Parts: sequence; C-alpha cells; structure tokens
Amino acid sequence: MSLILRTRQIDRREWWLWAFAVVVTIALTATIIFLTIFHKEVAETENYWSDLREWVRGLAALVLLFDIYTMYQHRQLLRIRRELADSNELFHLITENAADMIAVVDSEGRRLYNSPAYSTVLGYSPEELGTSLSTEQIHPADRPKVIEAAAKARATGRGERLEYRMRHKDGSWRILESTANPIAGADGNSGSLVIVNRDITDRKRVEELVAHSAFHDGLTGLPNRLLFNDRLRQAMMRARRSKHERLAVFLVDIDEFKVVNDSLGHSAGDQLLVEIAHRLEGCLDRAEQTTIAGRDVEVEEKTQGLARFGGDDFIVLSEEFSGPADAIRLAQHIQESLAPEFSVGEHRIVITASIGVALLSTAHLRPEDLIRDAELAMYRAKSTGRSRCEVFDPEMHSAAIKRLKLETELRRGIEQRELLAYYQPIISLRTGKVAGFEALSRWQRASGMVLPADFIPVAEETGLIVSMNQQLMLDACRQGAIWQASFGCASPLFMSMNITPKQFERTQLAEELRNILDQTGSNPANIHLEITETVTMQDADAAMDRLSKLKALGVHLSIDDFGTGFSSLSRLRRFPVDALKIDRVFISTMTEDRDSFEIVRVTIALAHSMDLQVVAEGTETEAQVAELKALGCEMAQGFLYSRPVDAEHAFELLCRDYGRPRSRCAVASATAAS
Ligand code: C2E
Ligand code: MG
Ligand code: MG
Repeated sequence: MSLILRTRQIDRREWWLWAFAVVVTIALTATIIFLTIFHKEVAETENYWSDLREWVRGLAALVLLFDIYTMYQHRQLLRIRRELADSNELFHLITENAADMIAVVDSEGRRLYNSPAYSTVLGYSPEELGTSLSTEQIHPADRPKVIEAAAKARATGRGERLEYRMRHKDGSWRILESTANPIAGADGNSGSLVIVNRDITDRKRVEELVAHSAFHDGLTGLPNRLLFNDRLRQAMMRARRSKHERLAVFLVDIDEFKVVNDSLGHSAGDQLLVEIAHRLEGCLDRAEQTTIAGRDVEVEEKTQGLARFGGDDFIVLSEEFSGPADAIRLAQHIQESLAPEFSVGEHRIVITASIGVALLSTAHLRPEDLIRDAELAMYRAKSTGRSRCEVFDPEMHSAAIKRLKLETELRRGIEQRELLAYYQPIISLRTGKVAGFEALSRWQRASGMVLPADFIPVAEETGLIVSMNQQLMLDACRQGAIWQASFGCASPLFMSMNITPKQFERTQLAEELRNILDQTGSNPANIHLEITETVTMQDADAAMDRLSKLKALGVHLSIDDFGTGFSSLSRLRRFPVDALKIDRVFISTMTEDRDSFEIVRVTIALAHSMDLQVVAEGTETEAQVAELKALGCEMAQGFLYSRPVDAEHAFELLCRDYGRPRSRCAVASATAAS
C-alpha cells in the first residue's frame, strides 16, 4: 500500500517539476526575445549590444542549466518509478500467493485490499469483501478487542499479535491469529493498516483436545481428578469469601464393581461406568435445577460438579446445601438415581453405591484435606455395609490416624520379625490325638501380644499381608516338616494355613507356595490351605482356575468359616476342595440351639456325600464333642483342646500324644531354624 502512496507522491512531484521547467523556460525565452526585439531602439550603442549579449547568454545558460536539472530529476523519478513498480510487483506476488490472508484497511477500517487467500480460507472472494468494514465478519464478542488493538497499533506504530474468531462464508467460525501494522503516510501517519491473518483453527482444536484429555477422563468424558482439584480449590475460595463455608464433597464408590468386571469382562465394565456417569450427570442437573429454582440466582451459576476419580469412584462437589441433612438428602438422591437397573449389552445389572460426604470446615486448608475426609467417610460407609452413606466426623480422622500409625508399626514389626507363628492343634475325633495344626499369626509387641483381628485387616488393606503371610507360611512349613520327621511315622501330621482374599487373587501364589515347599522340604500332602467361601464366590471361573493350580501342587484345600458366607454346598461341589471347617458360631451353639444343630448335622451329611472331611471350629465343651462324634465329624479344633500356642508348647502337645521323639531337632522352633 505504501507503494501506491509513494507512486502518487512521485507523480505529483514530477508534475510540479515539469510545470516549473516549462514556465521557467518560457519566461526566460520570452525575456530574451523581448530584450532582443523590443529594446533595439532604446539604446543602440556598442555597449548596449555587448551588455544585451551578456544578458541573453547568461539567461540561456540558466535555461540550459535548469533544463539539465529537470532532466536529471526526471531520470531520478524514472528510476524510483521502476523500483516502485518492481516492489509493487513483489508485493502482489507475495500477497496474491500467500497462504495467510492479507488485507489493507484505511483509517476507518474499510477494506482497500484483500488477498486471494480470503477465498480459500474463509470462502469470500476479495471482490465479495470489497470495501466492507473489516470488522463485519468478526465475532461480535471479539470486535471490541480487535478495534482496541487497531487503535493501539495506529497510536504506537506497532501491531501486536491477536486471536479472534471470524465467520466463514458457510456460517462456521474460524480462529485467526492476526497482526495489524500501520502504514506510514507522507506525514508519517496515514491511518491505514496492513493486516496479516493466519487461520489457526485446526491448531487450536488440537491444543484444546490435548488440554481436554489432560483434564478429562477418556472413558466418561467427565473432568478428572486434576481438574476437580482445581475446581474444588476455587469453590473453597468462594466459600471462604462468602463466609458461609457451604461446600460438600461426595465420594461415590460403586459396590462390588469388581464383580461386574470379573464376570462380564472389562468392556462391559467400561460401558457400565459410562452409563453411571450419565445417570450421575442427569441426577445432579435435576438436583441443581431444584435448588436453583428455590432461589433467585442466575441460570449460568454452576453449583455442582461431577468428576471421575479413577476406577469406580466418582466425586461430586456441591456448593448448595444448608447443613448435613441437606448433604445426606443429595447423597440419597444420588443413590436413588443409580438404583434402577442398567442395561449393558444383553445384561441387566443392578448396582448400589457407597457414599462418603465431607463438609467444608476451618480444618480443611487444601482440597486434598476435604477429599481425604470424604474418602474416610466412604470407607466407613463401605465397612458398615453396602449402599450406605456416611458423613465425615472428626472421630473418623483420629481413627484413620490410628490406623496409619498401626500400618507403619506393622511394617516395622514385619521387618523386625515381631510376627510369630502360633499353632492350634486340630484333633482327630476318631483317635483323640493331634492330627495337625492351624498356623495363626501373633504380633509380639513390647506392649503385649496383638491378635490377628487387630492387624490382619490393616495388613490385607495395605498389601502387607503378602510378605507377612509368606514369612508365616515359610515358618509353618519348616516347623511342620520338622514335626513330621519326628512324630509323623505313625500317621502324617498336617499344617494348615490361612489364605486371605488378597493373597488368593495373586496369580503368583501357586508359584510362591511351590518355592516354599521346595525350600522347606515339605510334603505337599501334609499342607492344608484354608480359603473362605466368600473368596470363591466372586468370580467362580477365576477361583476355579486358582484352586486347580494350588491343587496341582498336591496340597489339601479346606473351606474356612463355612456357613458364614452365602455359598451353598452344591456350588462348592465344582471346586477341588477336600474339607470344610464349620464356623464356630454354629459349633458353640449347637448343643443349645436346634437350628445350629441342624445346620451342623446337614453340613456334615452333605459334606460326606461329597467326600469332604469336616473340621468343627471353636469346640469348647465335651458335650459338643459328643454330638460331633455322633454326627461323624472327623476333626475338631478349639479351646477345649488347646488355645493357639507357640512352637514349644505345640511340641509338648505332640509329645503328650505320641511320646517324646529321640531326635532333639524336633524341639527346635522353625523361627530359630530359619
Ligand atoms: P480362623 O482361620 O477361623 O482361625 C480360628 C480362629 O478361631 C483363631 O483366632 C482361633 O484362636 C480362634 N479359636 C479357635 N478355637 C476357638 C474356640 O474354641 N473359641 C473361640 N472363641 N475361638 C477359637 P485368631 O488366631 O484370633 O485368628 C482369627 C482369624 O484371623 C483366623 O480365623 C484367620 O482367618 C485369621 N488369621 C490368623 N492368623 C492368620 C495368618 O497368619 N494369615 C492369615 N491369612 N489369616 C490369619
Ligand atoms: Mg482358619
Ligand atoms: Mg475359621
């Protein structure tokens, strides 16, 4: 554009130059003619003629000089014009072929020039755009900032990069990155701008996609933990500013979701999660409408937020409630929305959810604090049964701290070998002698002995159970092999060990056990593994597979605590088990309670029909033993015979039944041997 202006200036300059040259030449020529013709008679002296000649010569020299100067100026102008034509051509070459859209606008913002790229990028031909206002196609919301940027560029002489939306001819919006630079006029300020626009819509879309996937869950499209934390932080600040501190976090965990994954496969599990996310969204939208309807607020105000927290956990943020009762109402609302059955493929699935709620208090400084309390409340809800809702209270916090302390101490205890194997004898009701032992853990602390009920759940939850039980199995197998060698000549002595659900889930369990058997030289036939029936209930196929692998080692499998789970004997028939241990709740009441007696009687009869041996747990009285013998029960275990004891006392029990062995090695405890 500056080229056009320059050309105009040059044209103007050349016109003046020529006009001046002609006028001066005419004036001088006329003067010479006048002097030579009309002044002849005025003074015809020799002097006069010589003066006149001098004058005419001088003037002619002036005309010549002036014409030479004019010619020189003309040549200069021709050169500049040629240069301008060249750069003009270059300008056109660039603008006409550039992928970026280039426009020139005047001081009013009217288009003076539009490059052809406008038609490829925005669908408008340069003619269509014509001399329209350059802001016409810009998104109304972006117009003020564009106008402001143009004014700033004109004022400062430098344009800044700007992003705004422009309407494509097809009606869609494209995002442009643009720089407007002022064109200097003759006075240094023409008010015109040359604008270079680049279409960055695709790049923006990719950037948005990347940003979206960093902050959203790929499966459900819901915000993820990262984004939720950020929103929660802002909501906490809002709540603090408003001084109401009305903010609650709900952690929603789907009960037994693993069963769906295990039984129907992960893709069905994924589908179910997507459906759950939809339900939760719908439920919160409705809840929000109701809360907003009751108040005078702007419709855009978002008072609730939902995110997927990973796995089967969802988290809800609510800024709209007036106390714990309201929060519980929303939790119930969420649970109700999940109650109707879901259809995933051809399957109909019914789920329940446990919800932990934490209400913002002054103790919550960071979002993590609030989430942690919601988690604690959720764990409490889970531990008290399925489909429950719990609101966090500070007691939960101190319980959690206590638990954390216990975990740290247990970890140290395992390292320092404070966990010992105790042995409780299992008596053959036929011979009345010790047939084997059940190995049970005891935690020997400076403060006293800790029973498994107080540390096994923590060990199980934290995964410490794996290393803990490995050590116990090693000790028990080693001890069992020693006793076997000393007393087992008449009848083999077995060693029974408990396998928790976490251990049972491990695919390496069979492999690890084989190593332990090899390491301790144990006969697999003398090793009994106790598995609770609930473990076998979750995923029958996987359980079958694992049990078969263990059975292939040659070990004996027992179902522990039988009767407390929900499985039936017919279901257990499928599994390669060898014995049932009837839970002590039935044994302890069988002599007084008719129902318990019936359960024990039928269990023994059915077990026998399936070739399973029966062990009665928790036998405490002779009367129970008499009944059990009458029912044909093979073995009994309980305080009547002995409490769980250390290796030395267990050795004494064996000596009592089988006589003292000659070999001294039998006395050595397994722990010492290791
Ligand atoms: P369990 O496998 O059913 O073990 C039997 C429990 O009943 C033992 O409790 C035992 O002391 C108790 N018991 C035995 N006879 C009687 C009786 O006549 N009356 C009463 N009231 N109780 C009796 P303990 O040792 O406290 O173990 C509790 C549970 O902890 C065990 O139940 C077992 O499931 C688990 N457990 C213990 N040690 C270990 C271990 O090292 N590893 C694993 N995985 N689990 C263990
Ligand atoms: Mg047991
Ligand atoms: Mg038991």
